[in-house]
Amino acid sequence: MGLVKYVVLVPDGCADEPVDELDGKTPLEAAALPNLQALARRSEVGRATVIPGGLPPGSDVGNLAILGYDPLEFHTGRAPIEAAAMGVDLAPDEVAYRCNLVTLGADDTMVDFAAGHLSSEQSHPIVAALDAELGNGRDGVRFHAGVEYRHLVVTPSDWADADCTPPHDLTGKPARFPTGPAAAKLLALMDASRPVVTAAAAEVGSIATQIWLWGQGVRPTLPRFADRFGVDGRLTSAVDLVRGLGVLAGIEVLDVPGASAGFDNDYAAQRDACVGSLRDRDFFLLHVEATDEAGHQQNAAEKVAALEHWDREIIGPLLEALPGFGPHRVLLLPDHATPIRLGTHTSDPVPYLLYDSEVQVEGRAYTETAVAGLTPVAAHGLMGRLTASARLRAVRGGPGRAG
Ligand SMILES: [Zn+2]
Repeated sequence: MGLVKYVVLVPDGCADEPVDELDGKTPLEAAALPNLQALARRSEVGRATVIPGGLPPGSDVGNLAILGYDPLEFHTGRAPIEAAAMGVDLAPDEVAYRCNLVTLGADDTMVDFAAGHLSSEQSHPIVAALDAELGNGRDGVRFHAGVEYRHLVVTPSDWADADCTPPHDLTGKPARFPTGPAAAKLLALMDASRPVVTAAAAEVGSIATQIWLWGQGVRPTLPRFADRFGVDGRLTSAVDLVRGLGVLAGIEVLDVPGASAGFDNDYAAQRDACVGSLRDRDFFLLHVEATDEAGHQQNAAEKVAALEHWDREIIGPLLEALPGFGPHRVLLLPDHATPIRLGTHTSDPVPYLLYDSEVQVEGRAYTETAVAGLTPVAAHGLMGRLTASARLRAVRGGPGRAG
């Protein structure tokens, strides 16, 4: 038996609901997806719960499950995953908070969770001023500049116990400030940030008024992916959370020029990175954000277009290339649904597809409707099924185990 190649495809947030604008079809039903649907007819197609009960329906939780780690066991928060993507090391007694630069109105209304989507050139001097005035290790607090409005604050771990609201859930509403045992410390830092942020923002022409802290967690301890699943590989994604999970799981994260979180993503470049990587590593995960972004923008046409890019530029050519590598398996599912109707994520189960070139099965369409009656499986169990033969070889030390 030769080596088996394992490919995981993640169209972020692609699962949806019927959309009026698409004549009552979902984007998966409305899009022309000949390659995906042909694959589905030869695959196990089912329904998977990517967001376990009680956890927030975010890409951090969903992609953790797709990578084969039970979120209920391994998820500690969103910020420590972003910290890993940014190369920020967290000590065991530290906690990372996502630190947005936001715009609050005089009446504490959340006017803009992204402070007018200021640029990194604008935000970095603001974060530098914050670190100089309020951080720099004083009381164990430090600021780390990220991208645009998205930054990080590291604090001592006794700051962790607080209930914080993501600022994008408060747009146009009264700010809901942190509550809980550590809330006083967080509120003090957020209050202290106001004069520093407004002064530094005026210098760079930004409307930011203060910081907003949320998404906290300690560094999660993920067993190495290669040890857990017996196969080593790489991933491509333009999204920090997915890249951070790669860092934490010991999966090599590729920088693919042209890969972006927007509608201009270079699908072919990500596909070429996948095919190239399979020459010397057996596992690859390819994540594209555009479907999720279209969901947030409630833009059905862009969601359909993104799915058709997937079909034409990734799935079709990939299915032509894979037989050249020998036996192969493909797992495809989104990390959560992002229905156009809502413009935000839900915890609804999503359709998944599991293809094995060595096993003949009778499939079905890859759509929400085709799997509607099926009992959902836990998504974090699918990686073990995808890679089962790799673990068998690893245990036996038999042929096909790369040296
Ligand atoms: Zn999203």
